[in-house]
Amino acid sequence: MAGVIATPALADSRSEAVACVQNQLATMGLYNGKADGRASSAVRSAVAAYQTSKGAISSRAFDLDSAIVFCRHIGLRDKSMRQFWPSTKRPYVIIASDSIDKALKDEVTKSTALSLSAFRRTYGIELANTVYISIGQTPREMAEMTRKHHQRNRGDIVKYWTERCDTKANFTGVSYGGMIALCRDGPATLGKGLARNYVRQVVVHEVFHEAQAQLSGEPRKLKRSQSAVDWQGPVWMVEGSAEFVALNVTTGRSAGSLVSWFRARLKQRPELILLEQSTAREYFTLDVYYGGALGVSRLVSRSGTKSLTRFYEMLGQGVDWEEAFAKAYGTPTGQFYKAYARAF
Ligand SMILES: [Zn+2]
Repeated sequence: MAGVIATPALADSRSEAVACVQNQLATMGLYNGKADGRASSAVRSAVAAYQTSKGAISSRAFDLDSAIVFCRHIGLRDKSMRQFWPSTKRPYVIIASDSIDKALKDEVTKSTALSLSAFRRTYGIELANTVYISIGQTPREMAEMTRKHHQRNRGDIVKYWTERCDTKANFTGVSYGGMIALCRDGPATLGKGLARNYVRQVVVHEVFHEAQAQLSGEPRKLKRSQSAVDWQGPVWMVEGSAEFVALNVTTGRSAGSLVSWFRARLKQRPELILLEQSTAREYFTLDVYYGGALGVSRLVSRSGTKSLTRFYEMLGQGVDWEEAFAKAYGTPTGQFYKAYARAF
């Protein structure tokens, strides 16, 4: 699959997903407006008509945040509808600031292609939206790139960069559903202070977050009473599966062998129930990532790699996360938490 390095046509991958559905429904004769990327009432009623005649895709309301779920599933049901998937024309777009060396940019490009083919082959995940990745070195560069290429979550990305980019690690990433931003700390160059394998793991990890967002629908604006768990599942699974997949794809280790790999990196037993909310990411970082990945390794070793795909797809269909968990893994979360504790 040839990746494309270019300037995106639309700044927001959410509008691209809406335009995808508009084109799909227009081809089926259910919509006769423009493919302008706006989730108008005309599109919403066309989506409702599609679901009535062809079967439901999701109980989620059709809007900017859920459009990718519809675009993707219409293409999964009918191959000819994949021509409208933004990923068909451009699987990914890599945007690098001038300060990023070619070797690093090439490695990120290769790792992105590797992620997408491994996801398809091993996890049965076909992404419908283009994966946008920007790489920079300073908060100012990240602000500039997000201003040009990605309007959404710009404030969040810039804030993240201001807080973490220079101080944390030599290479780090963040995904905001529709945009991955990678930061290289100034002095580190590929091969000198920055290991190729590490870059590869960070990229696969972040591209898997993009896959989660495309399977479950992108993060919607939460009401005060809602928790992020409602749309993305517990944070130990969000980070644990990204970490599990990163290791699985880059090292080829099986889920069974990763159980002991992650177990060896934990000093004490994490309490998974405390790791459901995204705030846990800050308070129990190692537990969320490695404890979560240990949990995911156990789940995948029992139910197979495609169980992760089924779980995130069910969230996109509007299924409550605990119900989706029980369906994908054949065990309620409470029971799994107990078994996890016993086996630790
Ligand atoms: Zn992550």
